[in-house]
Amino acid sequence: MSRILLSPVTAVICNEKFEVTENAAIQIEGNRIVYVGPAAAAPPFEADEIIGGQQFVALPGLINTHTHAGMTLLRGYADDMALEPWLHERIWPFEAHLTAEDVYHGTLLAIIEMLRGGTTCFCDMYHFYERGAQAMIESGVRACPSAVLLGFLPEPQRRIANGIAFVREYQNAGNGRITPFIGPHSLYTCDHDHWAAMIAGARELGVPITTHAAETRREVADVIAQWGASPIQTLQNIGALEAPLLAAHCVYVDEADLAVMGSTPLRVAHNPTSNLKLASGFAPVPQFLQRNITTGVATDSTASNNKLDIWQEMRFAALLHKATTGDPTAISAQQALSMATREGAQCLGLEADIGTLETGKKADVILVDFNKPHLTPRHNIVSHLVYAVNAADVDTVLVDGRILLRGGGFTQLDAEKICADAEVRARRLVAASR
Ligand SMILES: [Zn+2]
Repeated sequence: MSRILLSPVTAVICNEKFEVTENAAIQIEGNRIVYVGPAAAAPPFEADEIIGGQQFVALPGLINTHTHAGMTLLRGYADDMALEPWLHERIWPFEAHLTAEDVYHGTLLAIIEMLRGGTTCFCDMYHFYERGAQAMIESGVRACPSAVLLGFLPEPQRRIANGIAFVREYQNAGNGRITPFIGPHSLYTCDHDHWAAMIAGARELGVPITTHAAETRREVADVIAQWGASPIQTLQNIGALEAPLLAAHCVYVDEADLAVMGSTPLRVAHNPTSNLKLASGFAPVPQFLQRNITTGVATDSTASNNKLDIWQEMRFAALLHKATTGDPTAISAQQALSMATREGAQCLGLEADIGTLETGKKADVILVDFNKPHLTPRHNIVSHLVYAVNAADVDTVLVDGRILLRGGGFTQLDAEKICADAEVRARRLVAASR
């Protein structure tokens, strides 16, 4: 069992009290944190490896609560378009030519981008999910993959059965790093029978559902026409909120929806960049927080973002709602950082294992190098983490007790090859979709 010591570091615990411990030591045995606290009070620990320095700020690995990792191959392929032509003329024709191998390589590209920037766990929904999950297992990252289920594709019931079988098969794969979800795309792409089958599958296996909900005005109108109620109330009406459900977006929600959200295990994945880029609108996140609705931050796909950078999403979450509410206290730096760590873990139902730097938790830890002009002076570490740190400032990344990034370089993954493979695959897809 490997024994790693991170010391001295400044540890941002990201717990309820949001403690920041200077001159801290973090002791890691196997895949668990066995001590976090002042280095001076640490119990004796014989480490195989020691990483530390006054410049390092340690925090729990960041969590991306909603993405479509395989879509990295579409990065920069279609920008500055309205949602409908964007989907119909560019995204779906490109995706029609995707193969399982494309998704494997696109997912690897997404993973190295996220790991390089300190994101150690993400919730994913995409096609060819088994090959996607293979990339997650091999790379060492932590992830919650799901089969995206679109009712208009051929043989939906067979696809649903496959998606449920995938959950059963991959539960706890990769030494417990893989936690599959059930992933109906949305209420407007799946009908009543599809939803009933997926809710039954999620209940039987005791796993959460993740879906898109209330992203655009048009979606809300379509769902009301199809189902007779708003997306959030429809989810409640069909029994989808009797167990945990992670809904991406929740931009268009009214008072009645908020009441449902506050009284059910619905969690929100907030995607500020994606909502900005597609001009979808502004999710009322300050109201979510007032009502204790668990909310994480997310990138959505690189087609609607175009980065998988949780630092950017945190920053936008903190800035955007100041502008929309006219209140500079609407979301604080600490609240934004909570959304990317502790609350992100709650969104995924993984709060017992990740999301804070505490004894007993799994060792998903990142070190940010604060020895930088844009992080000087160090008046307030949490403020810097949200308003000033860039993904490139991440120096070291551990997932499940394994060092995957050190000194900004990958220890096991061949980033150059992953990028070159993705480039070749993206070019082939562009040629095929013309
Ligand atoms: Zn999405």
